[in-house]
Amino acid sequence: MESPLLPAEPMLWSGWGDPARAAELPAPVRELLTELLGVRPPAAPAATFGEVRLPPAALPPAVLAALAAVTGEEHVRADDDARIRHTRGKSTPDLLLMRAGDASDAPDAVVLPGSHEEVAEVLRLCAEHRVAVVPFGGGTSVVGGLTPARRGYAGVVALDLGRLDRLRSVDPVSMTADLEPGLRAPQAERLLAGHGLTLGHFPQSYEYATLGGFAAARSSGQASAGYGRFDDMVVGMTVATPRGTLEIGRAPKSAAGPDLRQVFLGSEGAFGVITSLRLRVHRAPAVRAYEGWRFETFAAGTAALRRLAQEGAPPTVLRLSDETETMVGLAKPTDLGTPGGDSGCLVVAGFEGAPGDVAHRREQAAALLVEAGGVHLGPEPGEKWAQGRFSAPYLRDSLLAAGATVETLETACFWSDLPRLYDAVRLALLGALGSPLVMCHISHVYATGASLYFTVVTAQTGDPLAQWAAAKRAAGEAIVAAGGTISHHHGVGRDHLEAYAAEIGDLGGEILRGIKERLDPAGILNPGVLIPVY
Ligand SMILES: Cc1cc2nc3c(=O)[nH]c(=O)nc-3n(C[C@H](O)[C@H](O)[C@H](O)COP(=O)(O)OP(=O)(O)OC[C@H]3O[C@@H](n4cnc5c(N)ncnc54)[C@H](O)[C@@H]3O)c2cc1C
Repeated sequence: MESPLLPAEPMLWSGWGDPARAAELPAPVRELLTELLGVRPPAAPAATFGEVRLPPAALPPAVLAALAAVTGEEHVRADDDARIRHTRGKSTPDLLLMRAGDASDAPDAVVLPGSHEEVAEVLRLCAEHRVAVVPFGGGTSVVGGLTPARRGYAGVVALDLGRLDRLRSVDPVSMTADLEPGLRAPQAERLLAGHGLTLGHFPQSYEYATLGGFAAARSSGQASAGYGRFDDMVVGMTVATPRGTLEIGRAPKSAAGPDLRQVFLGSEGAFGVITSLRLRVHRAPAVRAYEGWRFETFAAGTAALRRLAQEGAPPTVLRLSDETETMVGLAKPTDLGTPGGDSGCLVVAGFEGAPGDVAHRREQAAALLVEAGGVHLGPEPGEKWAQGRFSAPYLRDSLLAAGATVETLETACFWSDLPRLYDAVRLALLGALGSPLVMCHISHVYATGASLYFTVVTAQTGDPLAQWAAAKRAAGEAIVAAGGTISHHHGVGRDHLEAYAAEIGDLGGEILRGIKERLDPAGILNPGVLIPVY
């Protein structure tokens, strides 16, 4: 099997990905922007690297020296380059701030530990000196998970886990692998490919996000219908906390009390630092087949996806775009045209596995999709999607530069609530933004429900941060009111704290604060993230 390409490093400091792969806006998108949305170029150009404003580094030299004694001097960096590249994550507000030259949330130093023991010692030192620690994986958080509250701390350290990048062992009998958390997904896939294996985790942030970040934020990849969510893949882990080390997971399932893995999956660095993961792996697929289907409406497509999730072996990749996303995503929207002129809704179904298994599942899925009203479009739409699956984030940078605000948000609910949730979030976004383009897709399905993923494009106002904050608040309120969860796979961070607090209630918040106080009595781990404060 071909090894995955490794992404260029470092990532663009003010945007997404490999700076050499900046995407040109396609002509139809440019036209849509001006004609439909009234987008105009922003008043000021984006700041250059040299124009970025950094606060003075606050860490006392004695603390820096103590940290250097743990990791080696070359692995403690307080230079501008390291600080800027570890400032916040990659949400649109994060990018807007960086484009405006605002690095006020920069850490005072970046520490790169080389082992579990070094992580544990850094935590001990930081607790002693009351220095906040932000575990840093790929830096792709889109929920403020890398923006700590610094008030009351002697300083902030970004704990970059990039040196913990080994495949430690493979157990081909149990089909598990022990991997370190700083591995970026393509690095992990390349190492596993050497053993004929794959994780099957391909989020859109695949090129830069890390295994530790996937576990800490409960990530879900584009092939979740076949391989599952990342939290389903974690069978064991090692965690360093300021109070000591935990080794969790000695069997795939256990009745020995509550599952402590669940305390750390989704904990976003607030309870401890994941220093090793035991993950379920799969044989690398011999066959990959992607295809497109058309449904007349989003409702009809949704019903078909539900049946696939409930009645048969679903495809490995399964996604349904609503009418707007289908129209915008097509080079020639008329390709999907029905006699009535309606562009319909595109379903992408991808099958991966052994040849016999793929053939069998394709046949089963095809029978069901036809029965549900689907029209087979052949391989082209599926392959086109697969080829461009990691490109959209590059387009976001070009849209921001052109003067558009573009951002995504996501949720999930039970099937019976889904039409109501879809309408509620769309209406909230339309109400808050005037006349934006609101697109949606379903890309993670379960027997009992599914996720909804919205992409919003609108003309930037003079204050795009306030503009998006208002839209996001309205969408969050609509999600809570319509019975959805505030996040299916992006996590809580700081941006979703209020809605998360409402979702888990006062007692839920108390439980989290109890765990936090026990594991991190000095409160140094990612302060301000995840834990509701009343
Ligand atoms: C363009 C784009 C597309 C995206 N697409 C998807 C998608 O398809 N699916 C999806 O699920 N998400 C997606 N995301 C969100 C993001 O990539 C995920 O949340 C991912 O899991 C973050 O991984 P990371 O390594 O970048 O973690 P980071 O962003 O570095 O960290 C995320 C959080 O986890 C904590 N953390 C990181 N490593 C550790 C560790 N070892 N121990 C403890 N805590 C840790 C951090 O402190 C932070 O709170 C996308 C983001 C972007 C920008």
